[in-house]
Amino acid sequence: MALEQTLILIKPDAVQRRLAGTLLSRFENKGLKIVGLKMLQVTKELSAEHYAEHVEKPFYPLLEEFITAGPVVALVAEGPEAISVVRSMMGSTNGRESAPGTIRGDYGVSRQMNLVHGSDGPEAAAREIKIYFKPEELIDYDTSLGGWVC
Ligand code: ADP
Ligand code: MG
Repeated sequence: MALEQTLILIKPDAVQRRLAGTLLSRFENKGLKIVGLKMLQVTKELSAEHYAEHVEKPFYPLLEEFITAGPVVALVAEGPEAISVVRSMMGSTNGRESAPGTIRGDYGVSRQMNLVHGSDGPEAAAREIKIYFKPEELIDYDTSLGGWVC
């Protein structure tokens, strides 16, 4: 069982719908450890770097418009098999097809405005974490205060 880090974005639709805290809570409640956290505005350049695999696709102009439409909350979450854990919490891309109980299944009906991004594998996670966070912005801390300290 591998301890992994994954990049999560709370996308502009979720921020504008005041769901950032709710979604952050879902990841915390699951038991993932937040090791990096910031709000930022995605630029067209950052969008093209992040979504390099999609830049040539017909839907990319709309995706760029969406992801740059307002700030995102970016976080790095750590935990056992965090990459696949987060992907399964997100649900499938299209909110209409995403199972109830997943984030996209519970909060949306759109294929594009689907609330969250999560890295889809170890290579993507390493690449995307570097795009959004400097090494010194990732904090390695112990969690002993989360236990029974009287
Ligand atoms: P996922 O985020 O589930 O990994 P993809 O990597 O396929 O999905 O696509 C990246 C993002 O681009 C999606 O989360 C969604 O916001 C948007 N997107 C994907 N496919 C379409 C499409 N056919 N039309 C519009 N937007 C899309
Ligand atoms: Mg993807």
